[in-house]
Amino acid sequence: MENESVVLPKKQEFSSWYNEILWRAEIMDVRYPVKGLYVWYPFGYSIRRSVYNLLRSLLDMDHEETLFPLLIPENEFMKEAEHIKGFEDEVYWVTHGGKTELEIPLALRPTSETAIYPMYALWVRSHADLPLKLYQIVNTFRYETKHTRPLIRLREITSFKEAHTVHATWDDAAEQVECAIILYKKFYEDLGIPLIISRRPDWDKFPGADYTIAVDTIMPDGKTLQIGTVHHLGDHFSKTFNIQFEDEKGEQKYAYQTCYGISERSIAAIISVHGDDKGLVLPPVCAPVQVVIVPVLIGKDRDAVLEASKKVFEELKSAGIRVKYDDREIRPGAKYYYWEMRGIPIRVELGPKDLAAGRVTIVNRLGLRGVIPLVDLVPGLSIALDNLSEQLKVRASEKFKSDIKYAKNYDEVCSFVETGVVAVDWCQNKDCADIIEEKTGASVLGTDVRTPDISGSTGVCIACGARAKIAILARSY
Ligand code: ZN
Repeated sequence: MENESVVLPKKQEFSSWYNEILWRAEIMDVRYPVKGLYVWYPFGYSIRRSVYNLLRSLLDMDHEETLFPLLIPENEFMKEAEHIKGFEDEVYWVTHGGKTELEIPLALRPTSETAIYPMYALWVRSHADLPLKLYQIVNTFRYETKHTRPLIRLREITSFKEAHTVHATWDDAAEQVECAIILYKKFYEDLGIPLIISRRPDWDKFPGADYTIAVDTIMPDGKTLQIGTVHHLGDHFSKTFNIQFEDEKGEQKYAYQTCYGISERSIAAIISVHGDDKGLVLPPVCAPVQVVIVPVLIGKDRDAVLEASKKVFEELKSAGIRVKYDDREIRPGAKYYYWEMRGIPIRVELGPKDLAAGRVTIVNRLGLRGVIPLVDLVPGLSIALDNLSEQLKVRASEKFKSDIKYAKNYDEVCSFVETGVVAVDWCQNKDCADIIEEKTGASVLGTDVRTPDISGSTGVCIACGARAKIAILARSY
């Protein structure tokens, strides 16, 4: 890990850059001997922990966390027709216990609707039990046949946060969909990840849903990455699993449901959106180490510098800043490389000159240098961390904006979609979508685009000339 050769440039070689960052920054080890399954290095896992702590803190405001079994009996799994159709090619089945064939095969959950809803049928009794809002963070299994990729396309999704809610009316469920979108927006805003929020076309919605709202971001190669979905399930599942409640008038009613999920793709997005040619760049909110202290030991002041560095460490630690003191016996340059690769937001350097001047030198991960007087250490560093968060947000959002263009004809679509995402006018008709997709090689990502704002719309379908609304076309992961 001491090889200091420069990482492949992110812009030209995104895919290789991504793979290289995963092992150089010790996020995922891809050498596990099962296709599509990867191993979290402890450092990668500590990023996962900070990111999911943030997600948990947002969910815990009005959801409760739960944990359901990994195995789903075949008879429950097969109950909802559309749902089965959507997942049947991807399910792993457990058919034996030891040498005995199981009477009922058990599915490894690809998602947990069919594990959770039979229990909801037992738990929901009256309108007083509603709304019910639970979530769990679990691993799920999908037999992916497409090219697998760490954190992005997996056979074991290790960090699937799935929320499942139950409501008295369709409108209440629709309102919950909006609440979930606000929550996801906040989560990604905190992480500095810009979002396209749109409604998936009907043929691309969650199997068994009334509609699906998705959040996507744009990767450095211009392809989109879906990093969250919110589904209005209507009463399809409640009718299948008999989730009924007694309303105020004493009548039995079917409930309405939503579900919404985020996976470790959120971490793939952080890596890809913020990272640079020197390695990972972590927003302070999710960095397992926010500040690293590197004592610069030269000359006779060695002991004084070490002592002062330790004091700085103690002070920051007791102020609640996630801080590391790097006193390894290697040269400072090697330490700088090591922590830059791991995306640590701020490096504090303390040498004899700093000590004499009663200050520390700071360098943030984007290379911005400054000094902070020792007497202002904690407030000074807090401001520096906030400034970096802001810097990252601005940088990501500028890049994002430049990656989306409105196209008024096929030629423009074809040329823009090579490097980014294209907005076009589309009449919402599937036949036109097929023509557009065939002619341009891009797919309809979504309609009813909520963010970003797109200007230039002609209101006329690019394929047939009928009245149209903006749709986003993209190549997707
Ligand atoms: Zn049309």
